[in-house]
Amino acid sequence: MEKREKIYEGKAKIVYSTDDPDLIIQYFKDDTTAFNAAKRGTVINKGIINNKISAKVFEFLSSEGIPTQYEQRLSDREMLIKRVEIVPVEVIVRNKAAGSFCRILGFEEGMELASHVLEFCYKRDDLNDPLINEYHIRALNLASEEEVETMKRYTIKINELMSTFLANLNLELIDFKLEFGRYKGEIILADEISPDTCRLWEVGTGEKFDKDRFRHDMGDIEEAYQEVLSRVEK
Ligand code: 5GP
Repeated sequence: MEKREKIYEGKAKIVYSTDDPDLIIQYFKDDTTAFNAAKRGTVINKGIINNKISAKVFEFLSSEGIPTQYEQRLSDREMLIKRVEIVPVEVIVRNKAAGSFCRILGFEEGMELASHVLEFCYKRDDLNDPLINEYHIRALNLASEEEVETMKRYTIKINELMSTFLANLNLELIDFKLEFGRYKGEIILADEISPDTCRLWEVGTGEKFDKDRFRHDMGDIEEAYQEVLSRVEK
């Protein structure tokens, strides 16, 4: 397998083609953005850490029967993945109130929820990834009804699997964002799962081990991400 030309550069990753039309290489950068790129920065080694965490999580989810884009980790910053057509809908799960849920609805961070919440956002940077519902997805032809059902089913399962997996590492999965892609007619899990895409709080103390440390200038970002990696690798 040979690395070819750059196809796309995003906020945190660069994507390269390979000599296999079904496979691409995802390169993890140290660049970090928040609040839809209004805040920018660099977290030393973040790309290496997120590549390793994401690889471990995708390997775990694959072993539990979730189809994913992940093929293998190639190096510190590179991951070989299936070339998918990304569904332009982000799927968010919330197990406790945090982030935009608190901002929009006026609840306090950390509030217990009677059940988990599943949200959809339209993947549009120029619009700040606005919150949408299943009617919008249907009306705008963003995904078929069957695809939405599949994404919901996988998301609920992933929440159960990851909540348990992380609880065993003394981390509480507060919320997270997933992306899905179309591959040979099927919906599969795509993108990355890392402290950039999840809120992870230490069980007991509530200490934050995720991107909120960057968003809110809390310091020790690399240390927090590294701590997640060392627990995931145990
Ligand atoms: P919120 O809507 O509260 O900002 O985000 C909810 C969860 O989804 C958080 O764990 C957050 O990190 C993740 N999330 C939502 N949108 C994005 C996004 O565009 N990029 C990344 N990396 N994570 C996101």
